[in-house]
Amino acid sequence: MSGIKCPHCRSSLALDKIGMHFQKFCAAIPTPAARESSMKKYNQFYMQLQSHARGEITQDELQKEADKLFSSGK
Ligand SMILES: [Zn+2]
Repeated sequence: MSGIKCPHCRSSLALDKIGMHFQKFCAAIPTPAARESSMKKYNQFYMQLQSHARGEITQDELQKEADKLFSSGK
């Protein structure tokens, strides 16, 4: 089962659970506004997830993209 670590709280997430985690469960997202901005970033991250599903980027690269994307513009 492939997955990444949550860029916010570092818990391990299955790839198909990431959106739900950001939307509802991540304890490291402090405010509704921050949660909304995470969901917007998740929409961008979804492109990377699809690249990974096609085998174009590795899981390591996916993790790096997640860390970069979600740590920017806090
Ligand atoms: Zn989290």
